Amino acid sequence: MITHHPVDATLVAAAAGTLPAPHLRVLAVHLAHCPACAGALRAAEAVGGGLLADLPPAPLRADALDRALARLDDPAPLPEPASVTPAVTLAGLATGRWRRITPWIAMMALSPRDTTDSRLDLIRVRPGAALLSHGHTGLETTCVLQGAFDDGTAQYGVGDFAEGDPALDHQPRALPGETCVCLIATTGALRPHGWFGRMVRPMIGM
Ligand SMILES: [Zn+2]
Repeated sequence: MITHHPVDATLVAAAAGTLPAPHLRVLAVHLAHCPACAGALRAAEAVGGGLLADLPPAPLRADALDRALARLDDPAPLPEPASVTPAVTLAGLATGRWRRITPWIAMMALSPRDTTDSRLDLIRVRPGAALLSHGHTGLETTCVLQGAFDDGTAQYGVGDFAEGDPALDHQPRALPGETCVCLIATTGALRPHGWFGRMVRPMIGM
């Protein structure tokens, strides 16, 4: 069962088109598992459309009325069902090459740092193993594709959405059982704690 969802500000940013693309990809995985958030995003997009409708009127084309009347016969668009499509499954996403970071952690770069200083990666962690203790200089969003992890405050399973901001310092640990695989978007850089983290950071380019 999904228990962790994006905050409203993240859905509003997605609806407004201001959420960087890597974070949108992570959000899409959550939405595929979560009809409630998918509906909330559609509502936020509708509010955005409503705001546009409140703008001062602009001159219409001469045939605007005929075109509007013609569209009344169009079938109403059906709401998109929240379903897990191949584009958001682990098999669909993991098209690159895994790079071993430590004996228990591997990463796959999916999209390099973009103009918003955001990048998209898959991370794979052996059951029971912990990531390096770290913070961030910007937004980090994570969605679990397989297995589960605990970040010290809560447990996250498949479909759960985790967000961290620069105030968050954490050391996620994969739960025993299945290998944990997550899709992670990061804006800015990692702030690793400890000599090992600082040593590994250049290796992973974060
Ligand atoms: Zn949700």
